[in-house]
Amino acid sequence: MSLKNLIEFNNYFTNNSNSNSNLFNTSELKININIQNFIGGEFVNSQSGLNIENINPATGRVYSTQPRSNLNDIKIAVEKAKQAFKSWSQTTNEERSIILNKIADGIEKNLSLLAKAESFDQGKPVWLAESVDIPRAAQNFRFFAGQILYAQSEAFEQSGKSFNFSIRKPIGVAGLISPWNLPLYLLTWKIAPAIACGNTVICKPSEVTPMTAYLLCHILKEAGLPSGVVNMVFGFGVEAGEALVAHPEVPLISFTGGTKTGQQLSMTAAPLIKKLSLELGGKNANFIFADANLEEAISTSVRSSFLNQGEICLCGSRIFVEQSIYPQFLSRFVDEVKKIKVGDPENKDNFLGALVSKSHMLKVKSYIEIAIKEGGVIETGNEKLELSEEFSKGYFMRPTVISNLTPESCLLNEEIFGPVVTVMPFEKEDDVVTLNNKVDYGLSATLWTKDIQRIHRLARQLEVGTLWVNTWMLRDLRVPFGGMKMSGVGREGGLHSLDFFSEITNVCVKY
Ligand code: NAD
Repeated sequence: MSLKNLIEFNNYFTNNSNSNSNLFNTSELKININIQNFIGGEFVNSQSGLNIENINPATGRVYSTQPRSNLNDIKIAVEKAKQAFKSWSQTTNEERSIILNKIADGIEKNLSLLAKAESFDQGKPVWLAESVDIPRAAQNFRFFAGQILYAQSEAFEQSGKSFNFSIRKPIGVAGLISPWNLPLYLLTWKIAPAIACGNTVICKPSEVTPMTAYLLCHILKEAGLPSGVVNMVFGFGVEAGEALVAHPEVPLISFTGGTKTGQQLSMTAAPLIKKLSLELGGKNANFIFADANLEEAISTSVRSSFLNQGEICLCGSRIFVEQSIYPQFLSRFVDEVKKIKVGDPENKDNFLGALVSKSHMLKVKSYIEIAIKEGGVIETGNEKLELSEEFSKGYFMRPTVISNLTPESCLLNEEIFGPVVTVMPFEKEDDVVTLNNKVDYGLSATLWTKDIQRIHRLARQLEVGTLWVNTWMLRDLRVPFGGMKMSGVGREGGLHSLDFFSEITNVCVKY
């Protein structure tokens, strides 16, 4: 797609009125923009010539295509990335920092286009992409542009014997595999540190949401990133993704996605002794003690349950409330959820847009059916939505609150990843540890309390990578981010990302 088409694309989103523009076949809402792979600085079709259709989840209609790539495309991308590594790995931190900042500028300049494209592809509200996803994508590049300039390395003096210092070195071609829930946000969270450290990369974005990854390639080119430093190969996980993980000349893989997929690709990567970072699923709990600021706990719990249609790995999908305030919390929380508006992602009043796909929506709904069979009470949600003709085939759901389930219910143990939250009471602090730690996952938890000693006690016992206290999703990019148990292996963020995307050599100099 040329820059001219990018502008037309922008116009489409800006004046979206199913206009007469000849770019579109309005009867099927097919935008005549077919995504291409970005390999060695060139936009190319897949070697197979096959494509996958992209669907707009708000309308349920196909609107563009992406290449269905396989091993042959990955092989070519690896060759290009290896070639580019020879010179990119020799650039200075300062040179790389300048380019990363230019990429951030490009994202910010195109914020509106990218936000609309993200919404169109993923179903999320435009206001959310504009205020969270796309600014964070720019921030990812800006953050690592600074980090590589100021990061320290270790040094140890062994009195009278030796002086040790460590150096970080780029590794080679990194494979970056990302999911559909925060498409550009999470992909750039991998690209930025990988190339900041001097590696070259091959990205395999989710086949469910490829559009902003494709638009990013244009921004990378305009920012002057040398050809082959970032390569984008689109396609299915079991074809392009699997081929990337299995390629012997890709020594590190950074993966964010489901736990089952993480298990599968670990089996491929382990015999090849690849460096592997796994950011996987979650089943996060939200504990509200009687001494909490209830006002804030309720409003933040509405966000942590339903932001992005509940399709965030950090969403708190199990709410536990101290018995003495349970009735009060439940009724006020449900009242707030009933006020939420769902529908047209372009309408600023809508807090929820569409779920990402039909199959995902059916999976989420199937949990509500299970809850009903188990005697769960649907406090709100599960009603039919009245939507205009345009959105009648979209994948919309009302946010749903379910009470009266037991901790053994699959709704309290499996990742639902949609706008469904369970609420139940707890009696004492010890219950919090048991309830939190009984699930297989260990990504995050939230505590609502004013008792500082309790915070210290629980922080040491809760099996989670991130513990929010009286807040949720407040991110500082320097902190370690990642999960325990089935939620993953390794930490991203700040120096943790630099360590993952580098080899460290310790130099021991004898006195
Ligand atoms: P997914 O595992 O289905 O897919 C993720 C990516 O892996 C996609 O690009 C997919 O094409 C690729 N893939 C699939 N099979 C593959 C294979 N065999 N080999 C290589 N690649 C393969 O996940 P999803 O449905 O896209 O995303 C939702 C999941 O991601 C949820 O479980 C969510 O919790 C998790 N997630 C975790 C974090 C985190 O930071 N821990 C963040 C966001 C999402």
